[in-house]
Amino acid sequence: MSPLTLEELHQNARQALDDMAAASSKEALEQIRVRFLGRKGLITQALRSLGSLPAEVRPQFGQEANRLKKLLEVHLEEAQDRLKKAALAAEAASLDVTLPGRRLDQGRLHPITRITREICDIFIRMGFQIAEGPEIETDYYNFEALNIPKDHPARDMQDTFYISDNVVLRTHTSPIQVRVMEQQQPPVRVIAPGKTFRRDSDLTHTPMFHQVEGLLVDQGVSFADLKGVLTLFVQEMFGSDVSLRFRPSFFPFTEPSAEVDIQCVICGGSGCRVCSQTGWLEILGSGMVDPAVFGFVNYDPEVYTGFAFGMGIERIAMLKYGINDLRLFFENDLRFLRQF
Ligand SMILES: [Zn+2]
Repeated sequence: MSPLTLEELHQNARQALDDMAAASSKEALEQIRVRFLGRKGLITQALRSLGSLPAEVRPQFGQEANRLKKLLEVHLEEAQDRLKKAALAAEAASLDVTLPGRRLDQGRLHPITRITREICDIFIRMGFQIAEGPEIETDYYNFEALNIPKDHPARDMQDTFYISDNVVLRTHTSPIQVRVMEQQQPPVRVIAPGKTFRRDSDLTHTPMFHQVEGLLVDQGVSFADLKGVLTLFVQEMFGSDVSLRFRPSFFPFTEPSAEVDIQCVICGGSGCRVCSQTGWLEILGSGMVDPAVFGFVNYDPEVYTGFAFGMGIERIAMLKYGINDLRLFFENDLRFLRQF
């Protein structure tokens, strides 16, 4: 590239000043900067070419090129300022300070978590402690030690997920009873929430669901204590005007056993579709701990008695909130979950 003449240098500078004055965006201004003042820009090149100029014009040309370079830099800065101020003004003009603030999207507890905590809180106030156990259980804890030997017909009541011949996904939270009693001597007073698993999937069953297990063992515990504790629980959970009834039932690990029904919370007892026109809803199973179970954990059944109970958390949540479809709990539809 042949060196510029002084005239061409001035021409370039004038062009640069005109372009800067006309630039309407940061990007356009940057292009101008690169074109004239950048590493390969016209003014920069002119300064670099000084050496190839005849000695007599060199000082004047160099002086002039430097002067123009500084001049352009000052104007560039001014143009940048002008655009920045214009952008701020435009933003301020479009800002409506009367608009309401943007609401922070807060997470909230899943209804199952809420009900689990509510159930546990009621029992904690009665002196129970939280206990936990593994979701993957051995056949021994899930069945054997709960008085359900192999070939016992009660095994047919539960469709079990087997991991191997001897290892299962727990079908109920009851194995926690056994683990707790193995680890401590009476008095025992625990409430044990957790996930349980059964090979069942339809409108009212899901392969994974939640249960809460309760166990109280001490000297002189009677069925009256069981009734008292569960009555208090139902009244705390569903209101003190809800009546309940105990119905004889069968569980392999309790004797005698009873299922607890509450007056239908939907129809108030007059009969509806939810309660199959009976006016009652089953909410939990319970009973006095079978002495055979005490045998597995070395408690002396001549000294200690106790009661146990278990309930489905989804069922309690459905009744408490009036939800008619179990699947809603597991679809994670925010429109549903936000209502709690
Ligand atoms: Zn009803």
